[in-house]
Amino acid sequence: MQVEYLIIGQGICGTWLSYYLKKTNKSFVVIDNNQLNSASRIAAGIINPVTGRRIVKTWMIDELLGFLVPAYKELGKELGTNVIEQKNLVDFHPTPQMKIAFDERVKEHAGFLSHPKDQQQYQQNFSYDFGFGEVDPCYVVNLKEILPVWRKKLLLNKQLLEENFEIEELNHSNDKVLYKNIKAEKIIFCDGINSSQNPFFKNLPFALNKGEVILIESADIPSTNIFKKGMMLTSIENGLYWIGSNYLWEFPDDKPTGQFRQQTESLLKNWLKVPFKIADHKASIRPANIERRPFVGFHPVYKNIGILNGMGTKGCSLAPFFAKQLTEHLVSGKEILPEADIKRFSKILMR
Ligand SMILES: Cc1cc2nc3c(=O)[nH]c(=O)nc-3n(C[C@H](O)[C@H](O)[C@H](O)COP(=O)(O)OP(=O)(O)OC[C@H]3O[C@@H](n4cnc5c(N)ncnc54)[C@H](O)[C@@H]3O)c2cc1C
Repeated sequence: MQVEYLIIGQGICGTWLSYYLKKTNKSFVVIDNNQLNSASRIAAGIINPVTGRRIVKTWMIDELLGFLVPAYKELGKELGTNVIEQKNLVDFHPTPQMKIAFDERVKEHAGFLSHPKDQQQYQQNFSYDFGFGEVDPCYVVNLKEILPVWRKKLLLNKQLLEENFEIEELNHSNDKVLYKNIKAEKIIFCDGINSSQNPFFKNLPFALNKGEVILIESADIPSTNIFKKGMMLTSIENGLYWIGSNYLWEFPDDKPTGQFRQQTESLLKNWLKVPFKIADHKASIRPANIERRPFVGFHPVYKNIGILNGMGTKGCSLAPFFAKQLTEHLVSGKEILPEADIKRFSKILMR
C-alpha cells in the first residue's frame, strides 16, 4: 500500500487530522488499536472558555471559539449527525468566598460570565446555598458519535487498520517511511500518551495526568446545561450523565480507584435532590505537558516524522484548530503557530 501520510491513532487528534487531509484530497491510512480507555473515549467533550479555580480565560479562546463551532458543524454534516451542542455552564458556588471570586471575574470577563437573575431555578434538582454563575457560551462535543462514526467511514474506505502499531517495525529515510507493507511520505503520531515513550518524541516535556469519571443514570437532571460544583456534570446521552474529573500527576496505573468512586458518590448524594444510579466508572490518562501548549509539527532531524499531540485537558478545543494548521503546513507550507510548533523544542529533540 502506498500513501502520502501514515497516521498513528484515531483519538480526537487523528480524527481531525484525517478529516482535514481527506478534505484536501491527500491519501493516508490510519492505524488505531481501539484502546477502550484512551483519553478521547473517556472525555466528556466539554469546551469551556474559562477554567480553573481562578476562573481565567483559556489560551486563544476568542480565536478558537470562532473556528470550532463551524468546524464541528461541518464535521457533523459529513457524519450525518449533530456533534456539537451549546450547553452553558451553571457554576454553583461552593462557598461564599467562591461567589465573591466569581463576582470579581464577572467584571473582567463580562462577555463570558454572568449571574442569572433567577437564582432559584435549579432548587428542585440540586442543593446549593450560595447561588450560581453562568458561563456563556460553553459547548459539549459528542465524542461518542464522532469517534466511531468517523472510524466506520475510514474502515469502509480502507483508510483505517485496526491493529497495534509497533515502532520497531518502522523504517525511515529522508523521503519515505516504511511500515510493514505500507510505504508513505510521512508518518504523523496522534497516539496520545504513547508518544511519551516514542524514541523520536520522548524528550518532549510530557507531564501525563490521570483523570477518572463516573457515569450515572437519572431521569430528572436537566440536559440543557453543564453543572458544576467541585466537579462537572453533563448529559452525554438520553438519561446518561458524565461526572468528573480529578487531576492526578502521580499515579500507579490507569485504573479506576475506590477512592474516587467514594468521593464522587458522596458529592452526588449531597448535591443532587433527584434519584440517580451509578452506571459505570472509568479512568484514563491525559497527554498533558508542562507548558499546556500542543505539540505540533515535524522532528528537526527526521523531517518526515511528525506529531499532533499534547492537548492535555483541552483536546476538543485544540485538536481541530491544530489539525487544520498541520494540514495547511503539509499542503502549502504554511507556518504552524510558534507556541504550538515543536520547533521550540528542537534542541532537546536533537539530543
Ligand atoms: C477524564 C478525562 C476527561 C476529559 N474531559 C475533557 C473534556 O471534557 N474536554 C476536552 O476538550 N478534553 C477532555 N479531556 C482531555 C482529552 O481527552 C484529551 O486532550 C484528548 O482526548 C487527547 O486526544 P488524542 O487524540 O491526542 O489522544 P487519545 O485520545 O489518547 O488517542 C490516541 C489514539 O491512539 C491509539 N493508539 C495509541 N497507541 C497506539 C498504537 N501503538 N497502535 C495503534 N493505536 C494506538 C489509541 O487507541 C487512541 O485511539 C479529558 C481527559 C480525561 C482523561
